[in-house]
Amino acid sequence: MADFGGDVEAFRADARAWIEENLPQSLKSGAGRRAAAMGGRSGDAGVWRQRVADKGWGAPTWPKAYGGAGLSRQEARALGEEMAKAGAFNPIGGLGIMSIGPTILELGTEAQKARHLPHIARGEYEWCQGYSEPGAGSDLASLQTRCEDKGDHWLVNGSKIWTSVANLADWCFCLVRTDPHAKKHEGISFVLIDMASQGIETRPIQLISGESPFCETFFTDVKVPKENLVGRLNGGWEIAKRLLQYERQNISAGFGTGGGAGGAAGDLSELAKKYQGAADGGMVADPDLRSRITRNKMDFQAFGLTLERIGAESRAGNGPSAATSIIKYAAATFAQERTELMVEAMGAQGLGWEGDGFSPDEITATHGWLRAKANSIEGGTSEVNLNVVSKRVLGLPDPK
Ligand SMILES: Cc1cc2nc3c(=O)[nH]c(=O)nc-3n(C[C@H](O)[C@H](O)[C@H](O)COP(=O)(O)OP(=O)(O)OC[C@H]3O[C@@H](n4cnc5c(N)ncnc54)[C@H](O)[C@@H]3O)c2cc1C
Repeated sequence: MADFGGDVEAFRADARAWIEENLPQSLKSGAGRRAAAMGGRSGDAGVWRQRVADKGWGAPTWPKAYGGAGLSRQEARALGEEMAKAGAFNPIGGLGIMSIGPTILELGTEAQKARHLPHIARGEYEWCQGYSEPGAGSDLASLQTRCEDKGDHWLVNGSKIWTSVANLADWCFCLVRTDPHAKKHEGISFVLIDMASQGIETRPIQLISGESPFCETFFTDVKVPKENLVGRLNGGWEIAKRLLQYERQNISAGFGTGGGAGGAAGDLSELAKKYQGAADGGMVADPDLRSRITRNKMDFQAFGLTLERIGAESRAGNGPSAATSIIKYAAATFAQERTELMVEAMGAQGLGWEGDGFSPDEITATHGWLRAKANSIEGGTSEVNLNVVSKRVLGLPDPK
């Protein structure tokens, strides 16, 4: 792989040419893009996935020794921007890249890094997140799944809920209670569980859309090797929070480069003109819609700059901080506003779920709009993120 000696623009030009040459035409829009973005592994989606994995661009900033490309943050950002411009995206993604990978990279043992990171970087394993329980969502530290020390292994019993893709996952990173007598935050540990272990049952939860993106997950006398504990015993809460910072940063990052759900709209003004018509001077005809689109675009621009600032602070300090709650909150809000504007601009055509009367882009828009509703719940709700901002960023007193 060429070394650009820190010349980000030279890297950018090279990345652009590579994407142009390697991104299959069918993935540039519509259904092909959606299939690939959903983790498609066959056909053109599989080809793109393989090419990106071989390039190390699934985890662009990770060291090459762990399957990454060893890019600087600036190069990775340029790569994200070039991907977005070309209508491309990182096909590997998922929780491996977004959350557990960076956490293992920072806090795992050398053996855990060697065992897991290369597979994550190539998207070979699907990961799921065993955090939420029926009685522990926002109040996550109330979790009850037990993990007992049995000498040569851990024994896990309990259940999780809303575990995305648990039925398809190879591994689960899981929060478990290892000391039931300690204060609730101090009796939690963080373990990696092989989903092929005996005693794990997943039950997909069916949504009104007919899709089943998440599961109930049950653990009955599941044996977990001792070496799968990440960090120290009963030190899991700190690791859980760190992982959430990575997750919130990475969930949100796609919006800054236009690669997230909000970005799928392309240019909102052009979209509105296509469906609603243009006034003299080439503006969106409807003045109310035009002003709301303009406000969203300005907010989006400011958000991109805030992302850069927080990214720079993160690079200068010790990685992501509680400020990731600001961007998670803002990203969720903008994505919801942007997808709402998108379907509104399309009029009745923005309501197509399936069928011949709607183009693939229109169907993608409707799906994206509904999917964005979950942005303010997953990875910690907007209210919970505002609480984090109030306490940990602004230093305001607890209202209780
Ligand atoms: C698409 C999607 C995917 C998900 N994937 C996973 C996954 O893979 N693994 C996993 O472990 N979990 C997952 N979750 C679960 C998610 O983390 C929880 O739904 C979320 O943390 C909220 O918990 P809850 O649903 O129990 O709601 P609750 O905690 O019961 O909250 C209900 C409402 O009360 C508000 N509220 C609660 N406490 C406070 C407070 N202190 N101050 C102000 N308001 C408050 C909340 O903001 C919310 O509006 C997923 C959720 C979604 C939507």
